[in-house]
Amino acid sequence: MIKQDITKYKHIWVFIEHENGKIERVSFELLTKARELAKDLGCEVHAFTVGDKVEQFKGEVFKYGAKKFFIIEDPILKDYITEPWRDAIVYMIEKHKPEIVLIGATTLGRDLAGTIATKLMTGLTADTTALDIDPKTKNLLMTRPTFGGNLMATIFCPDNRPQMSTSRPGVYKAVEEPVKGEVIKEKYEFDKGKYTKKIIEKIIEEGEKVNLGFYDVIVAGGFGMGSKENFKYLQELADLLGGTWAASRKAVQAGWAPQTRQVGQTGQTVHPKIYIACGISGAIQHQAGMKSSEVIIAINKDPDAPIFEIATYGIVGDVTEVLPKMIQMFKEKLGKA
Ligand SMILES: Cc1cc2nc3c(=O)[nH]c(=O)nc-3n(C[C@H](O)[C@H](O)[C@H](O)COP(=O)(O)OP(=O)(O)OC[C@H]3O[C@@H](n4cnc5c(N)ncnc54)[C@H](O)[C@@H]3O)c2cc1C
Repeated sequence: MIKQDITKYKHIWVFIEHENGKIERVSFELLTKARELAKDLGCEVHAFTVGDKVEQFKGEVFKYGAKKFFIIEDPILKDYITEPWRDAIVYMIEKHKPEIVLIGATTLGRDLAGTIATKLMTGLTADTTALDIDPKTKNLLMTRPTFGGNLMATIFCPDNRPQMSTSRPGVYKAVEEPVKGEVIKEKYEFDKGKYTKKIIEKIIEEGEKVNLGFYDVIVAGGFGMGSKENFKYLQELADLLGGTWAASRKAVQAGWAPQTRQVGQTGQTVHPKIYIACGISGAIQHQAGMKSSEVIIAINKDPDAPIFEIATYGIVGDVTEVLPKMIQMFKEKLGKA
């Protein structure tokens, strides 16, 4: 273990992930969460990123409360390639010494965080679902599900800085709190001969990318929906209520929904105002992604299904009977019949 002078490290840094000129939503979620942690620590929230042209993001970054925005711009950083991004970011972190570094647990974020943490020889907790400050030690408490969601582990990093975590998208709500921020441009001298990887072609897969976290109402279907055709009820009800539809992993595996709509431990985490679980048993791995919804309505023909344990309202019945009735009723109530 390398002992560091940890008192030199200050402030919380949030990584601004971007692709095709657009910031990933998780970065705003983390800026919002970081503001809360910063209050407990009495420090500031800063944002950082690298890329070809990234100063353009400053407006959005300051809107979510980052007082400083550290950037390195260089054509070599145009597309995400692990090594040059890592080197530029490690340079900024070593120079400015943030106490905490938060990165979204996206595909890019997970790749980047691992390589940064090993270069900095500090601790990293991957895919956390809760972050708190220990009132006594002021260490960052990073909580994540482990062993298939059967155990929640709270991990902390007492002797090394920065304390690093990748956090699961969708866990925190993104709330604006504009500040007047400052852009700090750094320069890194790349040893261009060092990098052997090149992007030859980028292929954007056809198919929708759904951010379930955007919706206040989610109508989700499980294996109890019985068929892909029956998923039309979910879509119809969701449309009526101004929400979207989602699925359990078993429904995804049955080919009734794309993985992009899966809720749960290996899918997306959501906390809508209303979550309607249709023909979903309520396995712990599914609950991991939706149990913090404000109101949970469960429809299941088995009165002993575990989903009823967390449901605000439960309907024991067959989804193919209950859903058409609900759709009809909402149509009438909303004057859309
Ligand atoms: C490592 C790991 C990660 C996982 N990640 C996820 C994840 O991210 N998301 C996820 O969802 N799962 C995940 N799972 C799978 C999870 O354990 C369950 O298998 C899954 O959630 C079950 O899906 P289900 O509720 O749709 O199906 P089932 O468990 O088969 O439940 C179907 C339910 O529908 C009811 N039903 C049947 N017919 C009707 C009807 N006509 N009307 C009303 N109700 C009816 C049944 O009573 C039953 O309760 C994971 C598992 C593992 C091991």
